[in-house]
Amino acid sequence: QAKSRGRNGFQFYSPEMDGEGVERLRVEALLRRAIERGEIFLHYQPQVEIGSQRLIGVEALVRWHNPELGLVSPVRFVPMAEDSGFINQLGEWVLFEACRQMRRWDEAGLAVPKMAVNLSVRQVERGAMTAQVAQVLAETGLAPRRLQLEVTESVIMNTGDALAFVHQLHAIGVGLAIDDFGTGYSSLAYLKQLPVDVLKIDRSFIKDIAVDSNDEAIAIAIIQLGKSMNLAVIAEGVENEEQAAFLLRHGCTRAQGYLYGQPVAPGELLEQWTERQHERHQHARRGT
Ligand code: C2E
Ligand code: MG
Ligand code: MG
Ligand code: MG
Repeated sequence: QAKSRGRNGFQFYSPEMDGEGVERLRVEALLRRAIERGEIFLHYQPQVEIGSQRLIGVEALVRWHNPELGLVSPVRFVPMAEDSGFINQLGEWVLFEACRQMRRWDEAGLAVPKMAVNLSVRQVERGAMTAQVAQVLAETGLAPRRLQLEVTESVIMNTGDALAFVHQLHAIGVGLAIDDFGTGYSSLAYLKQLPVDVLKIDRSFIKDIAVDSNDEAIAIAIIQLGKSMNLAVIAEGVENEEQAAFLLRHGCTRAQGYLYGQPVAPGELLEQWTERQHERHQHARRGT
């Protein structure tokens, strides 16, 4: 079976061992079973306003805990799901689960303004994405403006139907963020025509922001670009106060990163933020 083929559990699926079609079927079967067995789940990472540390949203990040392989990173299994075509089912599951979770937090009294969900190029390419989003919103009762989809620049640039997709999303009121911004090859002229809401500065530029003058220059350029195009800018991968201070100083007011919270299970997010929101309300009432 799939286990114990050396330290790399996925070696089993290398194309040399069998035809690619067989490999695809195996990966698909494995991931499908993983969903059925509850091995696939979502963690949520807070997005905050830097100054006030207010919660402005969360990003849903998919996780796979396999009994034999342990915790498998999405960096490994999302591309596998993309190659096998299973990403469409996986993506639909993620979208449903993330939207359902918003309703659970609503009911538990935690105000999470926005849910960000990652889409892969295969999902957008397929063309039925807008209908799927509309259906999920209808079934979960989540307000469209509380959902934000994240796509990378390459999704926008390399998908024939991306333009139509982005306009349809905008029409139903769902937000769009460009993920890992700065690492792709977006034509700014093209981007300007799109109803995009958010640019997320890739964390590779944030990492050495205080020491590398090139990264500094890029981050500042993206912040300025966002300003002039009237887009919100969220910095990814903010890990320390120095980075946060730099961002604030240059007009980037939103961030996501370990400084504000790791991706966590929904119950943990509830625990961490209910208290803070409660305190905030009390301060507001007392005027402190
Ligand atoms: P991403 O969308 O750019 O997500 C941000 C990644 O950065 C996450 O990694 C997150 O855990 C990590 N991160 C956040 N803050 C920090 C920080 O302060 N420092 C460092 N070093 N890392 C930080 P993760 O969860 O491993 O996800 C990796 C990528 O996998 C995501 O990058 C996204 O491209 C993809 N992915 C995750 N979930 C999904 C999904 O549901 N669907 C699709 N299509 N892709 C997904
Ligand atoms: Mg993302
Ligand atoms: Mg990103
Ligand atoms: Mg990334």
